Amino acid sequence: MPIKAPNSDNVFEKWINKTPAKELEKRFKQKNVPFEKGNISAGECVKNVEKFTAFYFQSEKKALEKPSVAEQVKTDIKGVSKTKFYEFTAPVDSEKWKDKTKVPLYDTLKPINCEKCNGTGYINCKRCKGERLITCKKCKGQGSVKCKKCDGLGSLELKIEILKDGKKIQKRMKYNCPECFGIGKLECKNCGGTGKVTCPDCKANARYRCNKCKGYGHFYTYALGLVPFKQTSAIVPHLFFRSDGEGLGYRLSNTINQVEGITIRDPKKLNEKDVQALLGYELDSNAKKMMSVAKKTFEKLQKSETDKPLLPIYIFPVLELDIVTPKNKKFKLFSIGSETGFNVFDHGF
Ligand SMILES: [Zn+2]
Ligand SMILES: [Zn+2]
Ligand SMILES: [Zn+2]
Ligand SMILES: [Zn+2]
Repeated sequence: MPIKAPNSDNVFEKWINKTPAKELEKRFKQKNVPFEKGNISAGECVKNVEKFTAFYFQSEKKALEKPSVAEQVKTDIKGVSKTKFYEFTAPVDSEKWKDKTKVPLYDTLKPINCEKCNGTGYINCKRCKGERLITCKKCKGQGSVKCKKCDGLGSLELKIEILKDGKKIQKRMKYNCPECFGIGKLECKNCGGTGKVTCPDCKANARYRCNKCKGYGHFYTYALGLVPFKQTSAIVPHLFFRSDGEGLGYRLSNTINQVEGITIRDPKKLNEKDVQALLGYELDSNAKKMMSVAKKTFEKLQKSETDKPLLPIYIFPVLELDIVTPKNKKFKLFSIGSETGFNVFDHGF
């Protein structure tokens, strides 16, 4: 059965009936005419009526007894020093909590090694591998070089000429090389005999400060967690019929049992085909947009750690009435619900 919006005259009349006469008098009383509720006429005051289809559901704040981890943060020591950390040993009263609902949790703070320097803060010199010295090229690390004078033999030779019985002969005589003192090797001057020289790349500094961690060696991670609020019965209304329909949501939630609409118990049913079949009329482009926003909001809340969307989802006709009083005061009336069960809310009155 198609759902019908109330007649705008009935909406106006219902509002007049529920609004105290004193308040009406302030806006509607004309000079020299005694004020009477019954004299206010819808025909004169209702200037424009617009129809909407509204989607409505409520969500409930979930109770969290322990802080739940929402995301990980990586930072350095400076970031840690600037962060305010929290620790909770008991649930928090949400009414008194003035801070953020997602906060850094102290007991999740821990250091992690810099992956570049493996937690040391430095990188060894590539050339000397942190040894400060490299092998002497001149002596290939031997610490000594071959004596050139004796070609490494340690000795030199002398030919001695002898006249033996009047006949010339030669004899060889060895003597110690005066350069290497008979050893055949000379201490390498380049390395002073050690076989190693100072690393020319790092000038014997051996280590470079790691540019990734700036020498600190560590980064830090901690979790942003949700504050563990005490169980509360906070019901949050979600009303979609215009982008600025929010203000009416809370007022509607207090009287939701007086309002008649279509209810669905499955957010998947929030689609054009199913909704049109239930309503008995075609959705306009605004209503389609609002339906999709309502569906997305519901699904987002289903994934939320803090909020739980509640069923059913309501679909109501909404009328927006532009009212202009004889004294030219302007305000709006909204009716929410079908002709057999609707409520009227004033806005800007
Ligand atoms: Zn080096
Ligand atoms: Zn020599
Ligand atoms: Zn050398
Ligand atoms: Zn590093």
